[in-house]
Amino acid sequence: MRFQDIPGQKQTITQFKTMMANDQLPHAILLLGPRGNAKLATAIALANYIQCTDRGDDSCGQCRSCQKSHKYVHPDIHFSFPVVKKEGQKREDTTSQHFMPAFREFISEQPFDEIQSWIKKITNTTSIANINTKECNEIVKKLGMQSFEGDYKIQIIWMAEYLAKDSNRLLKLIEEPTDKTILILIAEKQEQILATILSRCQIFTLSKVNDEEMERYLDQLNLPASLNRKEIIQLANGDIDKANSLAFKQQSDRSSLLLNWMRIAWRSHPDDVFPFVNDLARSTKDEQIAFLEYGIHFFREFLVYVYTKDLHALRLSEAEKNTALKMIKTIDEEKAQKISEMLTESIHLINRNISGKILFSAKSFQLSRIMKGIEEKESITYK
Ligand SMILES: [Zn+2]
Repeated sequence: MRFQDIPGQKQTITQFKTMMANDQLPHAILLLGPRGNAKLATAIALANYIQCTDRGDDSCGQCRSCQKSHKYVHPDIHFSFPVVKKEGQKREDTTSQHFMPAFREFISEQPFDEIQSWIKKITNTTSIANINTKECNEIVKKLGMQSFEGDYKIQIIWMAEYLAKDSNRLLKLIEEPTDKTILILIAEKQEQILATILSRCQIFTLSKVNDEEMERYLDQLNLPASLNRKEIIQLANGDIDKANSLAFKQQSDRSSLLLNWMRIAWRSHPDDVFPFVNDLARSTKDEQIAFLEYGIHFFREFLVYVYTKDLHALRLSEAEKNTALKMIKTIDEEKAQKISEMLTESIHLINRNISGKILFSAKSFQLSRIMKGIEEKESITYK
């Protein structure tokens, strides 16, 4: 994670860089701000920047230190975060250390997600997550030791609201820090943090991600063109975590619609085809086009898979990849090409205002013929 990867927060990042250059970075930092504004990612980018041995305007991403910090295995960057009881472990003995592999996976995949997504990842029960006494004691112990590599020892505490009352154990550390020790706390709700801690930290307020930054963020996600970005930006209201799940939902809705269409076309029973077509025809013209564009995106990726057999290279979700895997048994390269052409032609026809009912009925039977490899005997034209 580097500063350049963070959507927004330019002002605070510049402040950090200036402080670092003048050797004025505070020992205890509190990053405060609303849900979904990349607070954790900013803390990680700052920690990596501090540890980088060849830092310029950003961490270099190349040095030995960056190589470790980018894999979240730097021995002088410590993470503490809320956890729940781990199986086979007493709750009071469970610390972040026990969840580190899951945490590394979480931040590598979704670095901008928020605490609720993390808790959902580690438990499906209602057990309450927190940062417990043992964790606080270990933080004090770790930071009391010599650093392993660089000058600095850095402790990131994600979601200081989850610190139990024992967070007072950290007070001494904050008041009389050992040299080159930096504590970065992250929180959403200032009022839930002990006043004693609050008064000893320098607070940096991170703003909400604005619409322009959100648009840039969505642009670099390689999402299909059919995604309704405007709607996502509006509904997410500056929350990156929410934008991610909205984008995922839009895509998975269209993906199940496409799969459903193919199943119905395969069976070709009028009792299934017509209700499906009627539903589709009731959606707006823009929605119909977005659905067809999604289909083109899916089959483009499907063809990449047919050629390369490399699932990882695909711009598809796990569920879509599973669909692709199943489909490859019945759809070959030639059929996939034909389906793509049929979808492209359908968009042109919708743009020429053909009725959705007529179009999707005819295309359902054409889709069926393509899937079954039946040659087109007559082509239907709409001129
Ligand atoms: Zn570096």
